[in-house]
Amino acid sequence: MINLYYPLRSLKEGHWFKLICGASFQHLPAIQNLVLAYALAGADCIDVAADAAVVAAAREALDRAGYLVDAQWQRGDRPWVRPLLMVSLNDGDDPHFRKAVFDPNTCPSDCHRPCESICPAQAIAFTPAQSGVIAERCYGCGRCVPICPFNTISTQFYRFSPANLLPLVLSGVDAIEIHTQVGRQDAFERLWQAIAPVIPHLSLVAVSCPAGDGIESYLRSLYAMMQPQPPVVIWQADGRAMSGDIGDGTTHATLRLGQKLLAAELPGYVQLAGGTNGYTVEKLRSLHLLPPLSPTASDCDPSKAIAGVAYGSYARTLLSPVLDTLDAIVQERASPSVIPESGDGGAIAPTQPATPADLEHYPALLNQAMTLIDTLMSPLKGPGGPAQLGKRSSYTAKLSAR
Ligand code: SF4
Ligand code: SF4
Repeated sequence: MINLYYPLRSLKEGHWFKLICGASFQHLPAIQNLVLAYALAGADCIDVAADAAVVAAAREALDRAGYLVDAQWQRGDRPWVRPLLMVSLNDGDDPHFRKAVFDPNTCPSDCHRPCESICPAQAIAFTPAQSGVIAERCYGCGRCVPICPFNTISTQFYRFSPANLLPLVLSGVDAIEIHTQVGRQDAFERLWQAIAPVIPHLSLVAVSCPAGDGIESYLRSLYAMMQPQPPVVIWQADGRAMSGDIGDGTTHATLRLGQKLLAAELPGYVQLAGGTNGYTVEKLRSLHLLPPLSPTASDCDPSKAIAGVAYGSYARTLLSPVLDTLDAIVQERASPSVIPESGDGGAIAPTQPATPADLEHYPALLNQAMTLIDTLMSPLKGPGGPAQLGKRSSYTAKLSAR
């Protein structure tokens, strides 16, 4: 096993924490605030859509997080390091790579709009400004589809174009994740051959796969075709996709799949996703599938333990109270109660400077976000991390000095 430095070392220690912003999620203000908060709190990896604007937004948020930390954060029990930036690709149709679509003009006027209330991303609206699916907010969870009583909603899948990867890597992407399914050897090989020149520039490659008959031999066949060999490989056990915010029980599918992949002794690390939530680590510890939280944990054999957990819908929902409050503040300040009029009687734009929508401009909200994230991160990584209260005075002071 090669010697690894953080954040990759977290894999070896079984403390790897990945934030999944969503392979289809493109709402830039939310992405920036999620990335900033989770990066500050000590996430090891941030997984975003393979989209130039999303990558630029995430990179900027990581730069801002790096500005806010100070030297003491790099010394504590859990030193702060900049997380790896990952993008997700697919080798075929996959629920992570789709958007809901419907024509709101065809909706019966007496429909009580269950689609709007079930959407966890506020991606469906019926306002004069926006009606239907707000594409950049939709991350493809599919919950709106079966709930529509008139079968109005469908989904559109899309495929990542391999030619787009090199510019993303040149712009600062450190890692990729390939979403595949059992039986797609040919499609995976075509994608791999197309992106092979980029592989030596990456710190790691993750392969995400849901359960399927023969998954062990399928993933082994993928590993055999991975040339050049990536420095680090993660097998992401994709249990019940995009469901972690629904309830504790959603975590069981990824636990079962993770155990299966561990038993297969694949070369690389096994990490959970798909249905992960606040219950996942407790369950992993009760099954003795995580190394203990002690300094000797780095000696743990990764083939016998889960290397980490990726959180998607649960992590985003966890911060909803903070981000919703921030949205409300920004909207309220951006809408003056008296709109000035121009000489001809028409309304003109507010002359006040725009209200910053960046979370770090609101230290109380940022602290609230860090407290919430700590409930998710400390069980996996142990106490003493950047998200804990003692270290926060440094960035508050830095912000005040701006
Ligand atoms: S419920 Fe899911 S699939 Fe439907 S619009 Fe919302 S995020 Fe998109
Ligand atoms: S539930 Fe279906 S019919 Fe009703 S508003 Fe939503 S999309 Fe339209």
